[in-house]
Amino acid sequence: MQRSEQLEIPILDTMYVTDILTDDNRVFGAYGFDINDGTRYLIHADAVILAAGGHNRIWRRTSSRRDENTGDSFRLAVEAGARLRDPELVQFHPSGIIEPEHAAGTLISEAARGEGGILRNALGERFMERYDPERMELSTRDRVALAAYTEIQEGRGTENGGVWLDVSHLPRHTIMERLPRVYQTMIEVQMLDITREAVEIAPTAHYSMGGVWVNPEDHSTDVDGLYAIGEASSGLHGANRLGGNSLIELLVYGRIVGQAAAAYSANLPAQTRSTDAIDAARGELDRLLAADGAENVRALQRAIRNMMTDHAGVVRSEEGLREGLRKLDAIEARMADLGIHPDIAGFQDLAHAYDLKSSALAARATLEAALERRETRGAHNRSDYPEMDPDLQVNLVWSPDTGVTREAIDPIPEEISELIREVSVEGKLVE
Ligand SMILES: Cc1cc2nc3c(=O)[nH]c(=O)nc-3n(C[C@H](O)[C@H](O)[C@H](O)COP(=O)(O)OP(=O)(O)OC[C@H]3O[C@@H](n4cnc5c(N)ncnc54)[C@H](O)[C@@H]3O)c2cc1C
Repeated sequence: MQRSEQLEIPILDTMYVTDILTDDNRVFGAYGFDINDGTRYLIHADAVILAAGGHNRIWRRTSSRRDENTGDSFRLAVEAGARLRDPELVQFHPSGIIEPEHAAGTLISEAARGEGGILRNALGERFMERYDPERMELSTRDRVALAAYTEIQEGRGTENGGVWLDVSHLPRHTIMERLPRVYQTMIEVQMLDITREAVEIAPTAHYSMGGVWVNPEDHSTDVDGLYAIGEASSGLHGANRLGGNSLIELLVYGRIVGQAAAAYSANLPAQTRSTDAIDAARGELDRLLAADGAENVRALQRAIRNMMTDHAGVVRSEEGLREGLRKLDAIEARMADLGIHPDIAGFQDLAHAYDLKSSALAARATLEAALERRETRGAHNRSDYPEMDPDLQVNLVWSPDTGVTREAIDPIPEEISELIREVSVEGKLVE
């Protein structure tokens, strides 16, 4: 941000992007409005880099900030003509807080387990003994999340549907020196002192491995001039991202994608625009602003988040996913009767309506792909298919028109496999 300011790159901090504008499968800009005063923006651009995050706020508990990661990247890209890849691959972090509801899912750092935190179920059992007796609480993120989920599902969870994470046996100075943010967060959100009491936690949706289909070389998409990066993109982290790899990815691909987009723009002989595309974006915004139906946007967002938690959470099944799709049909039918009411405080209600549209699209893609991935792989657990299926070592690519299709994954070039083997042997691989 500071570097952008130094370079005098304009930053529109309060603009909500509603549409990526295209003409004949080529980007020519973006459309949106100011969330404070409703001013419309029409931006012309040769290239657009989509960096609008993932879709983990379509679950009830999420580590994301409020009103972010509602799948905007997914909808913006798909409506522009791009496809999605592996939307079902979502990482659940084991330790999100449960209360208060508006902060549900806020992360308790894994450092709490790393420093010696102990996990117990409502019966007081140290349940990791059942799942990973060697590593116990230091087991991997996905195994701990699955273990906590299983305890809760099998009736050994707390009244609020969680398990206990306890660091109160650690010396107070260790907590204050090594876990100051966890201490501070818990005081702020629950007035709970972790040096004395255990924290009630449950798995929380944390990271979207899937996202917009991109070319691995430069993260270009199916649409000329449209690029995606970070949680908006897909492919780099396979079925389960290693902790810590996301910010590195952003730095590395920030450079690669920035250079690719600049080169694309420099080589573009001319930019064509489409008044139809602009009219469609403007028309949809006008239509939503005039919507005066009986359905509340926030209530429908909650309905999607509940449905995804119940039917596409840490563990999925054919029956549950199909039930999820049935519920989604009903929610989408209700979306035809929205009431949207900007007020003196701003145009947030309009932004929530677009978030809702994005969430519904992201939920459908996720449910359909999760149904098709009839195996357990990485962060995707199917109770009815508990093993990995070699035939499904593929990417699942989704679009509203084609549904889910399979795409082969290129083999890793030998020199790169060799490099990975070398650094692993030397023990330099972080995780
Ligand atoms: C609590 C927590 C701790 C983490 N710790 C680590 C760590 O230690 N190491 C690590 O590597 N990773 C970590 N991660 C993951 C990492 O932070 C994220 O993967 C990364 O920030 C994703 O960056 P992004 O730019 O893709 O998306 P985001 O950071 O989600 O940014 C997306 C941006 O797009 C904006 N946006 C979305 N839709 C619209 C729209 N329609 N119009 C306008 N703007 C829009 C949002 O407001 C947001 O500013 C952590 C994540 C969390 C939640």
